[in-house]
Amino acid sequence: MDKIISSYRDSVIALQKELVQRVAMSPENGGDGEQEKALYLATYIEENFGLEVRFFNALDQRVSSGQRPNLISIYKGKREQILWIISHLDVVPEGDISLWESDPFDLRVEGDLLYGRGVEDNNQAIVSSLLVLKALKEQNLVPDYSLGLVFVADEETGSKYGLNFLVEQQAEIFSSNDLFLVPDYGVPSGLEIEIAEKSMFWLKVTVVGKQCHASVPDKGVNSLVACSAFILELSKLHRIFPKKDKLFCPPYSTFNPTKKESNVDNINTIPGKDVFYIDARVLPDYPLDRVLQEVKLIGKQIEDEYNVSIQYEIVLQEQAACPTKEDDLIVRKLKRAIKKVLQQEARCVGIGGGTVASVLRKRGYSTAVWSSLLGFAHQPNECSSITNTLNDARIMFNLLFD
Ligand SMILES: [Zn+2]
Repeated sequence: MDKIISSYRDSVIALQKELVQRVAMSPENGGDGEQEKALYLATYIEENFGLEVRFFNALDQRVSSGQRPNLISIYKGKREQILWIISHLDVVPEGDISLWESDPFDLRVEGDLLYGRGVEDNNQAIVSSLLVLKALKEQNLVPDYSLGLVFVADEETGSKYGLNFLVEQQAEIFSSNDLFLVPDYGVPSGLEIEIAEKSMFWLKVTVVGKQCHASVPDKGVNSLVACSAFILELSKLHRIFPKKDKLFCPPYSTFNPTKKESNVDNINTIPGKDVFYIDARVLPDYPLDRVLQEVKLIGKQIEDEYNVSIQYEIVLQEQAACPTKEDDLIVRKLKRAIKKVLQQEARCVGIGGGTVASVLRKRGYSTAVWSSLLGFAHQPNECSSITNTLNDARIMFNLLFD
């Protein structure tokens, strides 16, 4: 079977060509949604494999079709238990077009590499999973597990119309007994399986002093000085939240001041208001409410010492789901399949957050995030390897058997 899948190079190119030219962009990104790409895929599956494709449409009046499509197609195996392979239809915009060496929406092939927006994120996963179907169908095989292909909308802009919609509206589709694979993170070697994510916390901090002329600074309260002191004090958070977990890189929680809004326009004014932002990636064991509490305690000291007042606004608060365990069935099977196809051991990792796996993990579905990716998602000249696409298909294929 490995030889058969390895001979699908032409199919990879043909499919990627069709997918790349159907620009599936969310309205937030100035696009008209995923409908055209979804219709193409549904027709492809029905015509080539004779399988039923079900549409689960989330209504969205911002796109011309009025809906954001989510597709499901199932190939029956010996058991009811389903291996779900979940990929997303939508892509991000091309960005600065002058940085591209070719049209981002017209596939370019160079040896083993394919170039175009979406070839890696997430067309590679769509194509690999279709190749598994192709192999099953051509060989007329009945695998041990059933195979469920899921193509969701809206992954790049929050999944409200995508996987979140699917698991909320159609909860009966998935069973906690099923296996879940999300091929949307990975290293080029294919030897990392993501099983955990840190919690994400974005906080806006506004420090208010009193503006005045810089020649008489005592008449005001310099918010920039207080803001700077606050930023330096944030490193204390590492001592307050010291836990380490080797699954993650870095293995500890991170608390970084990032964006800083501009304050006064001229040099001779003492600023009276400064705004900065914190990006925190926190190990799953710590509740984010506690992080906010500790930030506010530091802020209280700054208020007292510098005579300013400080306001907080949560921009994003995403408590991580319970990690998938290393000895869960999907992870064990995946390790075995990778070993068989690539002849190397894969290792489990945690990442800084957040893939759609958290939507599934929060509902108790044990989910592995894995793929063999070169790492050019969202970049100009995004590219994807044909060999990796074929190897991923071989590994997915193996997961269907005991
Ligand atoms: Zn993606």
